Amino acid sequence: MTVAIVWFRKSLRVHDNQALSWACSSDEIKSILPVYIFGEEIREGSTEKMGEQRLRFQYECVENLHYNLNSKLGLKLHVFSGDPLPIFESISEHFFEQDVCLVTEYCSDISSRIQMDLIENKLITDDSKWSSKSFPAGHTILDIEEIINSPGYKPPNSMKDMIRIFTEEFGDFENTLFSTNDPTPPLVEKQNIPLIESPLLTSLSQIKSCLVTPTHFIGGESQALDRLEMKVTSQPDFVNKFNKPKSISTNSVANTSEPSTTGLSPYISTGCLSIRRLWNACIKQHQPNEMTKPPVSILGQLMFREMFYLLSRSVANWDRDSDNSHCIEIDWGEVDDSHLSAWELGQTGFPLIDAMMRQLDSTGWMHHLGRHATSCFLTRGQLWQNWTHGRDIFERKLIDSDWAINNGNWLWLSGTAPFSMPYYRIYNPCPDSKSSLNVETENADFIRHWVPELSSFPSKYIFEPHLAPQSIQESAGCLVGIDYPNPIVDRNESRKKNLDLFKESLAKLR
Ligand code: FAD
Repeated sequence: MTVAIVWFRKSLRVHDNQALSWACSSDEIKSILPVYIFGEEIREGSTEKMGEQRLRFQYECVENLHYNLNSKLGLKLHVFSGDPLPIFESISEHFFEQDVCLVTEYCSDISSRIQMDLIENKLITDDSKWSSKSFPAGHTILDIEEIINSPGYKPPNSMKDMIRIFTEEFGDFENTLFSTNDPTPPLVEKQNIPLIESPLLTSLSQIKSCLVTPTHFIGGESQALDRLEMKVTSQPDFVNKFNKPKSISTNSVANTSEPSTTGLSPYISTGCLSIRRLWNACIKQHQPNEMTKPPVSILGQLMFREMFYLLSRSVANWDRDSDNSHCIEIDWGEVDDSHLSAWELGQTGFPLIDAMMRQLDSTGWMHHLGRHATSCFLTRGQLWQNWTHGRDIFERKLIDSDWAINNGNWLWLSGTAPFSMPYYRIYNPCPDSKSSLNVETENADFIRHWVPELSSFPSKYIFEPHLAPQSIQESAGCLVGIDYPNPIVDRNESRKKNLDLFKESLAKLR
Protein backbone atom coordinates (compact mmCIF):
# COMPACT_ATOMS: atom_id res chain seq x y z
CA MET A 1 0.00 0.00 0.00
CA THR A 2 1.39 3.41 -0.94
CA VAL A 3 0.79 6.44 1.21
CA ALA A 4 0.92 9.83 -0.53
CA ILE A 5 2.18 12.62 1.67
CA VAL A 6 0.86 15.67 -0.12
CA TRP A 7 3.09 18.51 1.05
CA PHE A 8 1.45 21.92 0.56
CA ARG A 9 4.18 24.48 0.09
CA LYS A 10 3.06 27.24 -2.29
CA SER A 11 -0.30 25.96 -3.54
CA LEU A 12 -2.49 26.47 -0.48
CA ARG A 13 -5.63 25.43 -2.32
CA VAL A 14 -7.78 22.51 -3.33
CA HIS A 15 -8.75 23.78 -6.82
CA ASP A 16 -6.32 23.27 -9.71
CA ASN A 17 -3.82 21.49 -7.52
CA GLN A 18 -1.93 18.94 -9.58
CA ALA A 19 -0.22 17.21 -6.66
CA LEU A 20 -3.46 16.77 -4.75
CA SER A 21 -5.43 15.74 -7.85
CA TRP A 22 -2.83 13.14 -8.72
CA ALA A 23 -2.87 11.66 -5.22
CA CYS A 24 -6.67 11.55 -5.24
CA SER A 25 -6.96 9.84 -8.60
CA SER A 26 -3.91 7.58 -8.77
CA ASP A 27 -4.55 3.84 -8.41
CA GLU A 28 -1.10 3.48 -6.83
CA ILE A 29 -2.11 5.62 -3.87
CA LYS A 30 -4.13 3.98 -1.16
CA SER A 31 -4.10 6.72 1.45
CA ILE A 32 -3.35 10.43 1.58
CA LEU A 33 -1.70 12.47 4.31
CA PRO A 34 -1.92 16.22 3.59
CA VAL A 35 0.84 18.17 5.35
CA TYR A 36 1.62 21.84 5.90
CA ILE A 37 4.77 23.01 7.70
CA PHE A 38 5.32 26.39 9.33
CA GLY A 39 9.06 26.52 8.75
CA GLU A 40 9.88 28.99 11.49
CA GLU A 41 9.34 29.38 15.18
CA ILE A 42 6.28 31.54 15.95
CA ARG A 43 6.87 34.00 18.75
CA GLU A 44 4.33 36.55 19.87
CA GLY A 45 2.41 36.56 16.61
CA SER A 46 5.33 36.81 14.22
CA THR A 47 8.41 34.92 13.05
CA GLU A 48 11.88 36.04 12.06
CA LYS A 49 10.84 36.38 8.41
CA MET A 50 7.13 37.12 8.76
CA GLY A 51 5.72 40.23 10.38
CA GLU A 52 2.41 40.12 12.23
CA GLN A 53 0.07 40.74 9.30
CA ARG A 54 1.95 38.39 7.00
CA LEU A 55 1.89 35.54 9.52
CA ARG A 56 -1.77 36.20 10.32
CA PHE A 57 -2.63 36.04 6.59
CA GLN A 58 -0.58 32.86 6.10
CA TYR A 59 -2.29 31.26 9.07
CA GLU A 60 -5.73 32.05 7.61
CA CYS A 61 -4.67 30.43 4.34
CA VAL A 62 -3.69 27.25 6.19
CA GLU A 63 -6.84 27.26 8.32
CA ASN A 64 -9.00 27.61 5.20
CA LEU A 65 -7.04 24.84 3.46
CA HIS A 66 -7.69 22.63 6.48
CA TYR A 67 -11.40 23.39 6.20
CA ASN A 68 -11.64 22.91 2.42
CA LEU A 69 -9.67 19.64 2.41
CA ASN A 70 -11.95 18.25 5.06
CA SER A 71 -15.26 19.48 3.68
CA LYS A 72 -14.56 18.81 0.00
CA LEU A 73 -12.36 15.72 0.10
CA GLY A 74 -12.70 14.28 3.58
CA LEU A 75 -8.96 14.73 4.21
CA LYS A 76 -7.34 15.96 7.41
CA LEU A 77 -4.49 18.45 7.10
CA HIS A 78 -1.61 17.79 9.48
CA VAL A 79 0.09 21.05 10.48
CA PHE A 80 3.65 20.97 11.78
CA SER A 81 6.17 23.56 12.90
CA GLY A 82 9.90 23.36 12.40
CA ASP A 83 12.51 22.08 10.00
CA PRO A 84 10.85 19.84 7.34
CA LEU A 85 13.54 17.12 7.32
CA PRO A 86 13.12 15.97 10.96
CA ILE A 87 9.36 16.29 10.51
CA PHE A 88 9.35 13.88 7.56
CA GLU A 89 11.73 11.59 9.47
CA SER A 90 9.29 11.50 12.36
CA ILE A 91 6.41 10.83 9.95
CA SER A 92 8.38 8.01 8.33
CA GLU A 93 8.39 6.13 11.64
CA HIS A 94 4.61 5.79 11.33
CA PHE A 95 4.83 4.22 7.90
CA PHE A 96 7.96 2.09 8.17
CA GLU A 97 6.29 -0.93 6.58
CA GLN A 98 4.63 0.97 3.75
CA ASP A 99 5.71 2.63 0.55
CA VAL A 100 5.54 6.40 0.89
CA CYS A 101 5.45 8.92 -1.94
CA LEU A 102 6.20 12.55 -1.08
CA VAL A 103 4.08 14.54 -3.52
CA THR A 104 4.51 18.26 -3.95
CA GLU A 105 4.65 21.06 -6.44
CA TYR A 106 7.93 22.33 -7.85
CA CYS A 107 9.19 25.53 -6.21
CA SER A 108 11.81 27.50 -8.12
CA ASP A 109 13.32 29.60 -5.31
CA ILE A 110 16.76 28.63 -4.14
CA SER A 111 15.91 27.83 -0.51
CA SER A 112 13.01 25.54 -1.47
CA ARG A 113 15.19 23.72 -3.99
CA ILE A 114 18.00 23.20 -1.44
CA GLN A 115 15.45 22.04 1.11
CA MET A 116 13.93 19.51 -1.31
CA ASP A 117 17.39 18.17 -2.27
CA LEU A 118 18.23 17.64 1.40
CA ILE A 119 14.98 15.78 2.04
CA GLU A 120 15.32 13.61 -1.05
CA ASN A 121 18.98 12.77 -0.34
CA LYS A 122 18.18 11.73 3.20
CA LEU A 123 14.85 9.95 2.79
CA ILE A 124 14.86 8.59 -0.72
CA THR A 125 17.67 6.06 -0.67
CA ASP A 126 18.07 2.66 -2.34
CA ASP A 127 17.03 0.80 0.80
CA SER A 128 14.19 3.13 1.87
CA LYS A 129 10.55 2.79 0.89
CA TRP A 130 10.27 6.49 0.06
CA SER A 131 9.89 8.04 -3.37
CA SER A 132 8.97 11.53 -4.46
CA LYS A 133 6.91 13.14 -7.18
CA SER A 134 7.05 16.83 -8.06
CA PHE A 135 4.66 18.66 -10.39
CA PRO A 136 6.01 21.53 -12.47
CA ALA A 137 4.27 24.81 -13.29
CA GLY A 138 1.86 24.77 -10.35
CA HIS A 139 2.83 28.25 -9.26
CA THR A 140 3.59 29.70 -12.69
CA ILE A 141 2.16 29.41 -16.17
CA LEU A 142 5.47 28.53 -17.76
CA ASP A 143 7.40 25.42 -16.84
CA ILE A 144 10.37 27.35 -15.45
CA GLU A 145 12.92 24.49 -15.66
CA GLU A 146 11.90 23.64 -19.21
CA ILE A 147 12.23 27.24 -20.42
CA ILE A 148 15.55 28.05 -18.78
CA ASN A 149 17.04 24.78 -20.06
CA SER A 150 15.77 25.20 -23.59
CA PRO A 151 18.35 25.88 -26.34
CA GLY A 152 18.87 29.58 -26.97
CA TYR A 153 17.32 30.69 -23.65
CA LYS A 154 18.41 34.18 -22.64
CA PRO A 155 17.20 35.83 -19.43
CA PRO A 156 14.26 38.05 -20.45
CA ASN A 157 14.58 41.74 -19.66
CA SER A 158 11.46 43.26 -21.15
CA MET A 159 7.84 42.61 -22.04
CA LYS A 160 9.00 42.17 -25.63
CA ASP A 161 11.14 39.21 -24.52
CA MET A 162 8.20 37.78 -22.58
CA ILE A 163 5.86 38.10 -25.56
CA ARG A 164 8.40 36.16 -27.62
CA ILE A 165 8.65 33.40 -25.00
CA PHE A 166 4.86 33.16 -24.61
CA THR A 167 4.35 33.11 -28.38
CA GLU A 168 6.95 30.36 -28.81
CA GLU A 169 5.33 28.33 -26.05
CA PHE A 170 1.63 28.89 -26.69
CA GLY A 171 1.17 30.63 -30.03
CA ASP A 172 -1.76 33.05 -29.76
CA PHE A 173 -1.36 33.28 -25.96
CA GLU A 174 -3.94 36.04 -25.51
CA ASN A 175 -6.56 33.55 -26.64
CA THR A 176 -5.12 30.50 -24.91
CA LEU A 177 -7.04 28.78 -22.13
CA PHE A 178 -5.00 26.46 -19.94
CA SER A 179 -6.29 23.18 -18.64
CA THR A 180 -6.80 23.15 -14.91
CA ASN A 181 -6.79 20.21 -12.63
CA ASP A 182 -9.45 20.03 -9.93
CA PRO A 183 -9.32 16.97 -7.67
CA THR A 184 -12.19 14.57 -7.41
CA PRO A 185 -12.96 13.18 -3.97
CA PRO A 186 -10.80 10.13 -3.31
CA LEU A 187 -12.23 6.69 -2.68
CA VAL A 188 -13.27 6.14 0.90
CA GLU A 189 -10.36 3.84 1.74
CA LYS A 190 -7.88 6.55 0.78
CA GLN A 191 -9.07 8.71 3.61
CA ASN A 192 -8.20 6.17 6.24
CA ILE A 193 -5.02 7.59 7.76
CA PRO A 194 -5.00 7.55 11.51
CA LEU A 195 -4.10 10.89 13.07
CA ILE A 196 -0.36 10.89 13.32
CA GLU A 197 1.18 11.64 16.67
CA SER A 198 4.32 13.74 16.70
CA PRO A 199 5.76 16.31 19.09
CA LEU A 200 6.27 18.50 16.02
CA LEU A 201 2.54 18.64 15.26
CA THR A 202 1.05 22.06 15.87
CA SER A 203 -2.45 23.00 16.85
CA LEU A 204 -4.03 25.70 14.70
CA SER A 205 -5.92 27.13 17.65
CA GLN A 206 -2.67 27.54 19.60
CA ILE A 207 -1.17 29.60 16.76
CA LYS A 208 -4.36 31.58 16.30
CA SER A 209 -4.39 32.74 19.90
CA CYS A 210 -1.32 34.95 19.40
CA LEU A 211 -2.19 36.52 16.04
CA VAL A 212 -3.25 40.08 15.23
CA THR A 213 -6.69 40.69 13.78
CA PRO A 214 -7.18 41.15 10.03
CA THR A 215 -7.53 44.71 8.78
CA HIS A 216 -8.51 44.29 5.14
CA PHE A 217 -7.36 41.15 3.34
CA ILE A 218 -8.36 37.82 4.87
CA GLY A 219 -6.32 34.79 3.83
CA GLY A 220 -7.50 31.59 2.19
CA GLU A 221 -8.72 29.91 -0.97
CA SER A 222 -12.38 30.78 -0.31
CA GLN A 223 -11.55 34.51 -0.08
CA ALA A 224 -9.35 34.20 -3.17
CA LEU A 225 -12.19 32.74 -5.23
CA ASP A 226 -14.60 35.40 -3.93
CA ARG A 227 -12.18 38.17 -4.92
CA LEU A 228 -11.64 36.57 -8.33
CA GLU A 229 -15.40 36.72 -8.84
CA MET A 230 -15.69 40.28 -7.49
CA LYS A 231 -12.82 41.78 -9.48
CA VAL A 232 -12.56 39.65 -12.63
CA THR A 233 -15.39 37.25 -13.40
CA SER A 234 -18.17 39.75 -12.76
CA GLN A 235 -16.31 42.76 -14.18
CA PRO A 236 -15.73 42.48 -17.95
CA ASP A 237 -15.17 46.23 -18.26
CA PHE A 238 -12.58 46.29 -15.49
CA VAL A 239 -10.66 43.47 -17.18
CA ASN A 240 -10.90 44.82 -20.73
CA LYS A 241 -9.96 48.38 -19.77
CA PHE A 242 -7.31 47.46 -17.20
CA ASN A 243 -4.40 49.83 -17.60
CA LYS A 244 -1.88 49.41 -14.82
CA PRO A 245 0.12 52.65 -15.13
CA LYS A 246 -3.15 54.61 -15.03
CA SER A 247 -4.56 52.90 -11.92
CA ILE A 248 -4.90 55.11 -8.86
CA SER A 249 -2.24 54.39 -6.26
CA THR A 250 -4.26 55.75 -3.34
CA ASN A 251 -6.92 53.03 -3.50
CA SER A 252 -10.65 53.32 -4.02
CA VAL A 253 -12.39 56.55 -3.05
CA ALA A 254 -14.97 54.72 -0.96
CA ASN A 255 -12.46 52.56 0.88
CA THR A 256 -8.89 53.67 1.51
CA SER A 257 -7.78 50.03 1.89
CA GLU A 258 -9.37 48.60 -1.27
CA PRO A 259 -7.03 48.45 -4.30
CA SER A 260 -7.89 50.01 -7.65
CA THR A 261 -6.17 46.99 -9.21
CA THR A 262 -7.27 43.36 -8.64
CA GLY A 263 -5.81 43.01 -5.13
CA LEU A 264 -5.20 39.34 -5.95
CA SER A 265 -1.46 39.32 -5.22
CA PRO A 266 -1.75 37.97 -1.63
CA TYR A 267 -3.77 35.03 -2.96
CA ILE A 268 -1.48 34.39 -5.91
CA SER A 269 1.71 34.47 -3.85
CA THR A 270 0.37 32.00 -1.28
CA GLY A 271 -1.10 29.88 -4.08
CA CYS A 272 -4.64 30.25 -2.70
CA LEU A 273 -5.55 31.18 -6.26
CA SER A 274 -4.34 29.18 -9.23
CA ILE A 275 -2.52 31.39 -11.69
CA ARG A 276 -4.09 29.43 -14.55
CA ARG A 277 -7.57 29.89 -13.14
CA LEU A 278 -6.93 33.66 -13.06
CA TRP A 279 -5.45 33.70 -16.58
CA ASN A 280 -8.45 31.78 -17.95
CA ALA A 281 -10.92 34.05 -16.14
CA CYS A 282 -9.31 37.09 -17.81
CA ILE A 283 -9.31 35.49 -21.27
CA LYS A 284 -12.98 34.62 -20.93
CA GLN A 285 -13.75 38.32 -20.35
CA HIS A 286 -11.81 39.57 -23.33
CA GLN A 287 -13.67 41.42 -26.01
CA PRO A 288 -11.64 41.68 -29.22
CA ASN A 289 -10.61 45.25 -30.11
CA GLU A 290 -11.63 46.50 -26.67
CA MET A 291 -9.09 44.94 -24.43
CA THR A 292 -5.82 46.52 -23.35
CA LYS A 293 -2.61 44.64 -24.17
CA PRO A 294 0.60 43.71 -22.34
CA PRO A 295 2.41 45.38 -20.66
CA VAL A 296 -0.54 47.37 -19.25
CA SER A 297 -3.26 44.63 -19.22
CA ILE A 298 -3.84 42.10 -16.43
CA LEU A 299 -2.25 39.40 -18.62
CA GLY A 300 0.72 41.77 -18.95
CA GLN A 301 1.03 41.88 -15.14
CA LEU A 302 0.97 38.09 -14.99
CA MET A 303 3.69 37.98 -17.66
CA PHE A 304 5.90 40.31 -15.58
CA ARG A 305 5.42 37.81 -12.79
CA GLU A 306 6.60 34.98 -15.07
CA MET A 307 9.58 37.12 -16.12
CA PHE A 308 10.74 37.43 -12.52
CA TYR A 309 10.30 33.71 -11.97
CA LEU A 310 12.49 32.95 -14.99
CA LEU A 311 15.10 35.51 -13.92
CA SER A 312 15.19 34.46 -10.28
CA ARG A 313 15.83 30.86 -11.35
CA SER A 314 18.41 31.60 -14.02
CA VAL A 315 20.36 34.57 -12.60
CA ALA A 316 22.80 33.53 -9.86
CA ASN A 317 22.59 35.51 -6.60
CA TRP A 318 19.26 37.08 -7.59
CA ASP A 319 18.74 38.42 -4.08
CA ARG A 320 22.17 40.02 -3.69
CA ASP A 321 23.66 43.32 -4.73
CA SER A 322 27.03 41.72 -5.49
CA ASP A 323 27.96 38.85 -7.82
CA ASN A 324 24.58 39.30 -9.49
CA SER A 325 24.78 39.80 -13.25
CA HIS A 326 21.47 41.70 -13.08
CA CYS A 327 22.60 44.23 -10.49
CA ILE A 328 24.99 47.15 -10.89
CA GLU A 329 27.01 47.26 -7.67
CA ILE A 330 26.34 50.85 -6.65
CA ASP A 331 28.25 52.17 -3.64
CA TRP A 332 25.36 52.74 -1.24
CA GLY A 333 27.66 53.34 1.74
CA GLU A 334 26.83 52.46 5.32
CA VAL A 335 23.24 51.91 6.41
CA ASP A 336 21.66 54.91 8.18
CA ASP A 337 19.53 53.26 10.86
CA SER A 338 17.60 56.40 11.75
CA HIS A 339 16.58 57.02 8.12
CA LEU A 340 15.72 53.37 7.59
CA SER A 341 13.57 53.25 10.68
CA ALA A 342 11.80 56.56 9.85
CA TRP A 343 10.97 55.06 6.44
CA GLU A 344 9.76 51.78 7.92
CA LEU A 345 7.60 53.45 10.58
CA GLY A 346 6.08 56.07 8.26
CA GLN A 347 7.78 58.97 10.07
CA THR A 348 9.75 60.61 7.27
CA GLY A 349 7.79 63.86 7.21
CA PHE A 350 6.73 63.10 3.60
CA PRO A 351 3.01 62.35 3.96
CA LEU A 352 2.61 60.20 0.84
CA ILE A 353 5.58 58.00 1.77
CA ASP A 354 4.40 57.80 5.39
CA ALA A 355 0.81 56.96 4.39
CA MET A 356 2.01 54.18 2.08
CA MET A 357 4.33 52.70 4.70
CA ARG A 358 1.66 52.85 7.42
CA GLN A 359 -0.82 51.15 5.08
CA LEU A 360 1.79 48.43 4.52
CA ASP A 361 2.27 48.00 8.26
CA SER A 362 -1.43 47.90 9.00
CA THR A 363 -2.76 45.83 6.08
CA GLY A 364 0.30 44.09 4.59
CA TRP A 365 -0.41 45.54 1.15
CA MET A 366 0.45 48.61 -0.96
CA HIS A 367 -0.42 49.63 -4.54
CA HIS A 368 2.29 49.07 -7.15
CA LEU A 369 2.89 52.79 -7.64
CA GLY A 370 3.07 53.26 -3.87
CA ARG A 371 5.79 50.60 -3.93
CA HIS A 372 7.46 52.63 -6.71
CA ALA A 373 7.29 55.82 -4.66
CA THR A 374 8.56 54.30 -1.40
CA SER A 375 11.36 52.18 -2.93
CA CYS A 376 12.64 55.01 -5.12
CA PHE A 377 12.54 57.31 -2.06
CA LEU A 378 14.58 54.87 0.06
CA THR A 379 17.24 54.20 -2.57
CA ARG A 380 18.35 56.46 -5.44
CA GLY A 381 15.65 59.08 -4.75
CA GLN A 382 16.10 60.60 -1.30
CA LEU A 383 17.65 58.39 1.37
CA TRP A 384 20.48 56.61 -0.52
CA GLN A 385 20.07 53.27 1.25
CA ASN A 386 20.98 49.91 -0.26
CA TRP A 387 17.85 48.37 -1.86
CA THR A 388 18.38 45.13 0.08
CA HIS A 389 17.36 46.89 3.34
CA GLY A 390 14.01 47.94 1.88
CA ARG A 391 13.60 44.52 0.29
CA ASP A 392 13.94 42.86 3.70
CA ILE A 393 11.33 45.13 5.27
CA PHE A 394 8.90 44.52 2.40
CA GLU A 395 9.55 40.77 2.62
CA ARG A 396 8.59 40.71 6.29
CA LYS A 397 5.52 42.90 5.98
CA LEU A 398 3.92 42.19 2.60
CA ILE A 399 1.17 39.60 2.71
CA ASP A 400 1.96 39.01 -0.98
CA SER A 401 5.67 38.67 -0.23
CA ASP A 402 7.30 36.71 -3.03
CA TRP A 403 11.05 36.12 -3.25
CA ALA A 404 11.29 36.21 -7.05
CA ILE A 405 9.05 39.26 -7.52
CA ASN A 406 10.11 41.33 -4.53
CA ASN A 407 13.80 41.12 -5.40
CA GLY A 408 13.05 41.74 -9.09
CA ASN A 409 11.07 44.89 -8.39
CA TRP A 410 13.59 46.26 -5.89
CA LEU A 411 16.30 45.75 -8.51
CA TRP A 412 14.05 47.54 -10.99
CA LEU A 413 13.26 50.55 -8.80
CA SER A 414 16.76 51.01 -7.40
CA GLY A 415 17.95 51.63 -10.95
CA THR A 416 20.45 48.77 -10.81
CA ALA A 417 19.00 46.15 -13.20
CA PRO A 418 19.08 45.89 -17.01
CA PHE A 419 15.30 46.33 -17.00
CA SER A 420 15.36 49.33 -14.61
CA MET A 421 13.99 52.71 -15.43
CA PRO A 422 16.81 55.26 -16.03
CA TYR A 423 18.34 56.14 -12.64
CA TYR A 424 17.80 59.88 -13.21
CA ARG A 425 14.01 59.50 -13.40
CA ILE A 426 13.18 60.12 -9.77
CA TYR A 427 9.65 60.36 -8.41
CA ASN A 428 8.70 63.51 -6.55
CA PRO A 429 7.60 62.23 -3.11
CA CYS A 430 5.28 65.26 -2.84
CA PRO A 431 3.27 64.68 -6.01
CA ASP A 432 0.67 66.89 -7.65
CA SER A 433 -2.31 65.69 -9.68
CA LYS A 434 -0.18 65.28 -12.81
CA SER A 435 2.38 62.94 -11.24
CA SER A 436 2.73 59.49 -12.80
CA LEU A 437 2.30 58.16 -9.25
CA ASN A 438 -1.45 58.71 -9.86
CA VAL A 439 -2.28 60.03 -6.44
CA GLU A 440 -5.73 61.38 -5.65
CA THR A 441 -4.81 64.93 -4.60
CA GLU A 442 -8.07 66.85 -4.52
CA ASN A 443 -9.47 65.45 -1.27
CA ALA A 444 -6.32 63.53 -0.30
CA ASP A 445 -8.47 61.13 1.75
CA PHE A 446 -5.79 58.45 1.57
CA ILE A 447 -3.34 60.71 3.43
CA ARG A 448 -6.02 61.83 5.88
CA HIS A 449 -6.84 58.20 6.69
CA TRP A 450 -3.33 56.79 7.03
CA VAL A 451 -1.70 59.88 8.58
CA PRO A 452 -4.50 61.01 10.91
CA GLU A 453 -2.31 63.77 12.37
CA LEU A 454 -2.93 65.57 9.05
CA SER A 455 -6.64 64.77 8.77
CA SER A 456 -7.71 68.43 9.02
CA PHE A 457 -5.00 69.88 6.83
CA PRO A 458 -6.09 71.72 3.67
CA SER A 459 -5.36 69.64 0.54
CA LYS A 460 -3.17 72.46 -0.79
CA TYR A 461 -0.54 71.79 1.89
CA ILE A 462 -1.16 68.18 2.81
CA PHE A 463 1.68 66.75 0.69
CA GLU A 464 4.20 69.23 2.16
CA PRO A 465 2.71 70.29 5.48
CA HIS A 466 5.92 71.93 6.72
CA LEU A 467 5.37 74.63 4.06
CA ALA A 468 1.99 75.60 5.52
CA PRO A 469 1.93 78.91 7.41
CA GLN A 470 1.86 78.60 11.21
CA SER A 471 -1.78 79.79 11.35
CA ILE A 472 -2.90 76.98 9.03
CA GLN A 473 -0.98 74.38 11.04
CA GLU A 474 -2.64 75.70 14.20
CA SER A 475 -6.15 75.64 12.78
CA ALA A 476 -5.53 72.09 11.41
CA GLY A 477 -4.48 71.02 14.91
CA CYS A 478 -1.11 69.75 13.75
CA LEU A 479 2.15 71.59 14.31
CA VAL A 480 4.85 70.22 12.05
CA GLY A 481 7.92 69.31 14.06
CA ILE A 482 5.74 68.56 17.12
CA ASP A 483 2.66 66.58 16.04
CA TYR A 484 4.11 65.36 12.74
CA PRO A 485 7.80 65.23 11.75
CA ASN A 486 9.60 67.76 9.63
CA PRO A 487 10.96 66.18 6.40
CA ILE A 488 14.01 64.09 7.31
CA VAL A 489 15.81 65.39 4.20
CA ASP A 490 15.52 68.35 1.88
CA ARG A 491 14.05 66.57 -1.14
CA ASN A 492 15.69 68.78 -3.78
CA GLU A 493 19.14 68.66 -2.21
CA SER A 494 19.05 64.92 -1.59
CA ARG A 495 17.81 64.29 -5.12
CA LYS A 496 20.69 66.26 -6.62
CA LYS A 497 23.28 64.70 -4.30
CA ASN A 498 22.05 61.17 -5.06
CA LEU A 499 22.07 61.71 -8.80
CA ASP A 500 25.74 62.73 -8.52
CA LEU A 501 26.51 59.72 -6.31
CA PHE A 502 24.86 57.34 -8.77
CA LYS A 503 26.77 58.86 -11.68
CA GLU A 504 30.08 58.65 -9.78
CA SER A 505 29.42 55.07 -8.78
CA LEU A 506 28.68 54.13 -12.40
CA ALA A 507 31.84 55.89 -13.59
CA LYS A 508 33.96 53.90 -11.11
CA LEU A 509 32.56 50.65 -12.43
CA ARG A 510 33.44 51.41 -16.06
P1 FAD B 1 -2.57 43.67 -10.38
O1 FAD B 1 -2.12 44.90 -11.04
O2 FAD B 1 -4.00 43.40 -10.30
O3 FAD B 1 -1.81 42.49 -11.13
C1 FAD B 1 -2.25 41.11 -11.11
C2 FAD B 1 -1.11 40.24 -10.66
O4 FAD B 1 0.01 40.36 -11.53
C3 FAD B 1 -0.56 40.59 -9.28
O5 FAD B 1 -1.36 40.07 -8.29
C4 FAD B 1 0.82 39.97 -9.34
O6 FAD B 1 0.78 38.59 -9.11
C5 FAD B 1 1.22 40.20 -10.79
N1 FAD B 1 2.00 41.45 -10.88
C6 FAD B 1 1.53 42.72 -10.96
N2 FAD B 1 2.54 43.59 -11.05
C7 FAD B 1 3.67 42.88 -11.03
C8 FAD B 1 5.05 43.21 -11.10
N3 FAD B 1 5.47 44.47 -11.21
N4 FAD B 1 5.94 42.22 -11.01
C9 FAD B 1 5.55 40.93 -10.93
N5 FAD B 1 4.27 40.55 -10.85
C10 FAD B 1 3.34 41.51 -10.91
N6 FAD B 1 4.35 41.66 -6.01
C11 FAD B 1 4.20 40.51 -5.34
O7 FAD B 1 3.31 39.72 -5.67
N7 FAD B 1 5.03 40.19 -4.28
C12 FAD B 1 6.01 41.03 -3.87
O8 FAD B 1 6.76 40.68 -2.93
C13 FAD B 1 6.17 42.27 -4.55
N8 FAD B 1 7.12 43.17 -4.16
C14 FAD B 1 7.25 44.36 -4.85
C15 FAD B 1 8.24 45.27 -4.45
C16 FAD B 1 8.39 46.47 -5.11
C17 FAD B 1 9.48 47.43 -4.68
C18 FAD B 1 7.55 46.80 -6.19
C19 FAD B 1 7.70 48.08 -6.94
C20 FAD B 1 6.58 45.90 -6.61
C21 FAD B 1 6.42 44.67 -5.95
N9 FAD B 1 5.44 43.73 -6.36
C22 FAD B 1 5.30 42.55 -5.66
C23 FAD B 1 4.70 43.89 -7.63
C24 FAD B 1 3.36 44.61 -7.56
O9 FAD B 1 3.48 45.80 -6.86
C25 FAD B 1 2.27 43.75 -6.93
O10 FAD B 1 2.24 42.47 -7.52
C26 FAD B 1 0.90 44.40 -7.18
O11 FAD B 1 0.89 45.71 -6.69
C27 FAD B 1 -0.15 43.58 -6.50
O12 FAD B 1 -1.41 44.17 -6.61
P2 FAD B 1 -2.55 43.52 -7.50
O13 FAD B 1 -2.71 42.09 -7.17
O14 FAD B 1 -3.73 44.40 -7.38
O15 FAD B 1 -1.89 43.64 -8.94
